[in-house]
Amino acid sequence: MTFATLGLIEPLLRALETLGYQTPTPVQAQAIPAVLAGRDLMAAAQTGTGKTAGFAVPLLQLLTMEGPKVAANSARALILCPTRELAEQVHASVAEYAQNLPLTTYAVYGGVSINPQMMKLRKGVDILVATPGRLIDLFRQNALKLNQLQTLVLDEADRMLDLGFSEELANIYRMLPKKRQTLLFSATFSDEIRTLAGQMLNDPLTIEVSPRNVAANTVKQWVVPVDKKRKAELFVHLMRKGRWKQVLVFAKTRNGVDALVDKLQGLGINADGIHGDKPQATRQRALDRFKSSDVQILVATDVAARGLDIEDLPLVVNFDLPIVAEDYIHRIGRTGRAGNTGEAISLVCADEVNMLSAIEMLTRQTLSRHMEQDFEPEHRVPDTDASGQVVKKPKKPKKPKSSGGGGKRNLGKWVESGDASPVEPSIKPVRKVPVFNTGPRKKK
Ligand code: AMP
Repeated sequence: MTFATLGLIEPLLRALETLGYQTPTPVQAQAIPAVLAGRDLMAAAQTGTGKTAGFAVPLLQLLTMEGPKVAANSARALILCPTRELAEQVHASVAEYAQNLPLTTYAVYGGVSINPQMMKLRKGVDILVATPGRLIDLFRQNALKLNQLQTLVLDEADRMLDLGFSEELANIYRMLPKKRQTLLFSATFSDEIRTLAGQMLNDPLTIEVSPRNVAANTVKQWVVPVDKKRKAELFVHLMRKGRWKQVLVFAKTRNGVDALVDKLQGLGINADGIHGDKPQATRQRALDRFKSSDVQILVATDVAARGLDIEDLPLVVNFDLPIVAEDYIHRIGRTGRAGNTGEAISLVCADEVNMLSAIEMLTRQTLSRHMEQDFEPEHRVPDTDASGQVVKKPKKPKKPKSSGGGGKRNLGKWVESGDASPVEPSIKPVRKVPVFNTGPRKKK
């Protein structure tokens, strides 16, 4: 199958050729004809499957072939994204696909001044990429009208719900014209997503290009059990042993990010961090430097899990496991993209066993464990499997240790991350996370 056989027009075929896209990915092969036929779509696609082109390319074709010119302060198509980074990236992709078309595109998001965005919207834009909060602000300030809207795309819809945007989505829903095409994309499908789809979509075609909730099988995943207080030391050890060149590291909290970056920089390692407390420009700069390999280790909270598309990123390390199991899929989806192979290593301490179990159940696999010599945990990580069971074996009483942790244990001035600092608020889950076996608590 080729892009031409999917019925795409010549300016789009030329753009895709320039980008080096030779054959449609499975999600593109299914989504492109359906969108061109005007269908609503509910698509589950893993990260890195090419879903952006799956919706953007046919959308561009429809906008080129049909409908009136865009009016002032209007948009003909709206793509909603959960984070600024993703909005920027989706917009960059849309602009690339539209390079030979007479269409205008623009991205709006919070954290930057609204005035230039209002000015830009005056003439109207064909495709507007937006985060929900800023979109509502612009609408309320009459900078944007949505009565000309033909198509709405909800990108990473599951993530929008995780980030607590359900109220914003309900508000936006009320602002939209009734007659429109709606495309919902989500890396994972939950029951809430299905409910949202039931409200927003009209007789949608469902596309599921990979089994539900399974991470890309091009990513080799494994877990290293370790005591919490030795995670940083283990990270440095693995990094040196494996001669890691470019690594994206996920930590749970802002303080955790800062502490790890300080620790690495203190050891002369070229590291930088991004999280929600840093200004947008600083975050973008760190990302750009990482992408251009000027920074070797980028440590991030889940804010960075979306919107990062780095060619050939070989390795993702979960310094802490994510609180929301689905985030694991998004995190490791930063590697092994577009058919490349990748590796995802999780440093897991005993406290995180329920998160590990939730991840294994969601991804329907038991992650293999590799014990690293000299880092065997004192606090054993109980066994887990894909059924969501945490096997808490009765522990044999341990022989007392000979020393209180000298020798290799204290490398530099590591400040324990995570305990005192709050979880990055922007990733606080509002819906229930599958957490299993929290202990015997049957009361009757
Ligand atoms: P996405 O899942 O949309 O974030 O895309 C993941 C990566 O795959 C991006 O770097 C795209 O540029 C790339 N990509 C998307 N479609 C294709 C294709 N048909 N052939 C080659 N690369 C692609």
